[in-house]
Amino acid sequence: MNKYIEIIVQSYQGYAGYLLHEIISPSWSNYFYWLIGISLFFFGLEWWMPWRKSQKLFRKDFWLDVFYMFFNFFLFSLIGYNAISNIGVNLFNDFLALFGIENLVAFEIQRWPAWAKLLTMFVIADFIQWNVHRLLHRVPSLWEFHKVHHSVEEMGFAAHLRFHWMETIIYKSIQYIPLAMIGFGLQDFFIIHIISVAIGHLNHSNLYITYGPLKYLLNNPAMHIWHHAKTLPNQYGVNYGISLSIWDYLFNTAYIPKDGRDEKLGFDGDEQFPKTFLQQVVYPFKK
Ligand SMILES: [Zn+2]
Ligand SMILES: [Zn+2]
Repeated sequence: MNKYIEIIVQSYQGYAGYLLHEIISPSWSNYFYWLIGISLFFFGLEWWMPWRKSQKLFRKDFWLDVFYMFFNFFLFSLIGYNAISNIGVNLFNDFLALFGIENLVAFEIQRWPAWAKLLTMFVIADFIQWNVHRLLHRVPSLWEFHKVHHSVEEMGFAAHLRFHWMETIIYKSIQYIPLAMIGFGLQDFFIIHIISVAIGHLNHSNLYITYGPLKYLLNNPAMHIWHHAKTLPNQYGVNYGISLSIWDYLFNTAYIPKDGRDEKLGFDGDEQFPKTFLQQVVYPFKK
């Protein structure tokens, strides 16, 4: 037991030092400046060629979303992942040790070429996320947490990271622990994470991008806006795709009835949904 407490403490201490280091020393392997760079890039594109021309650049709740972005990305995402995955991997190895097995790697994945490793990891992670996202819509208690993300009224890139921190716990524990156990390392997650952030920002941005026929493979703003539509064809929602749209086409949850540029966003009863960060964080627990 002490060992696990120590792992949690070390994860957090290691993270605090790491975060400081990130901020004071810009480099190519630095999350902090990547997040700022990607955000400025999409901010610029929204200014240059907005889809909804009447939407302000600093749209409704822009600053709330910017706050969520840094909160979720730094204060929660990485720490949560660090602690949970360290424990998960340790627990798993301890469990195997009970049977005299020292290490179980399903594939010899670390020996694969880098691109094959990353692509495999990206696709597996995205499919797991698609399933978790469906769960967030189907399980009533999880939906209370996910409402935060669906409380966006005007869509823009920063809305990507407006979500309750519990989502991080739910996604990461379901997604990364199995991946870590297959044999993917922390360094592998870095590139995937940066790519996912860029794609997620794009899918929420006020830009008209559909990729033509590639829309059956890649999620895009014209598709994801329907995920946020207030009026839906069924109770549980549509277009759960995160980076890839292919799962929605394969499992018949894709829905783009028309151009969704000016579609009203939100969910039933969102008029009563709290408007500030603190209230939104507390809300699902009170429910
Ligand atoms: Zn959703
Ligand atoms: Zn969204």
